[in-house]
Amino acid sequence: MTHLDYKRHIDGVIERIEKARLGVSDHHIVKMVAVSKYVDEASIEALYAIGQRAFGENKVQSLQRKAASLDALPLEWHFIGSLQKNKINPLISLNPALIHSIDSMELALALNDRLVREGKSVSALIQINSAYESTKSGFLPEASLHAYAQIHQQCPNIHLKGVMSIGAHTHDRPTIQKSFERTRSLFDQLPNATICSMGMSEDFELAIACGSTLVRLGSILFPAC
Ligand SMILES: *Cc1c(COP(=O)(O)O)cnc(C)c1O
Repeated sequence: MTHLDYKRHIDGVIERIEKARLGVSDHHIVKMVAVSKYVDEASIEALYAIGQRAFGENKVQSLQRKAASLDALPLEWHFIGSLQKNKINPLISLNPALIHSIDSMELALALNDRLVREGKSVSALIQINSAYESTKSGFLPEASLHAYAQIHQQCPNIHLKGVMSIGAHTHDRPTIQKSFERTRSLFDQLPNATICSMGMSEDFELAIACGSTLVRLGSILFPAC
C-alpha cells in the first residue's frame, strides 16, 4: 500500500468512528488507541506520520522494546494485556499513559505496592469480564463496583479512570451488544469515571453506540499484516 492509500484507509476508519460517535451525540468524544501488538516499529512510525499518537501493547516486553526504539517520538503508550506480577516493575518504569487491565484485587495491591516504593502513580482502568467468558480475565460484573471502590480506597497510587471490556467472542451481535451495555451501565454508576474502553476492529461501531469513549483498534489499522 502506498503512503497515500494508507492515509485514505486510516481516514476511512476515522470516518466510521466519527459517524458512530455522532450517532450517540455531538458531544460524545471517542479516543482511538492503535494496538500495535502485531506490527514492528516501522508500521508504528507510518501511522504516527499520519497523526496517530496513542498506541497500545499487550506484552510488557514488546512495549519496552518499541517504546525504547521509538523514544524520539512523542508517543502515548497504553498497556492493554494481562499483567503478570513479575512484569510490574518494568511496566512502571515505562510510565505508561494508562493501564487498561487491572483484573484482580491481588494485582491492584501488588501494583500499588511497587508504585508506592518507587514514589510513582499510574492511571488505570479495571477490566470487566462482561461477557462472562471463562477464557477472559477481569472482574465479574457483580463484583466490579465493589472492586473499584476497594481499589480506590486501598491503592492511593493507582488513579482509577474507568473500565475496560472485551466484547463477547461471538458473531451474534445482540450478545456482543449486551456485554457492552453491561460494561457501560457499570461505568455510569462509578463516581468520577471518564474512560469506558471497549471496541476492537470487529465491533467498534457497536461499542461506540453502546457508549464507549475509547476504542482499541489493531488489525484494521494495520491491514498489511
Ligand atoms: C489485540 C487487542 C485489541 C485489538 O484487536 P483487533 O481485533 O486487532 O482490533 C484490542 N484490545 C485488546 C485487549 C487486545 O488484546
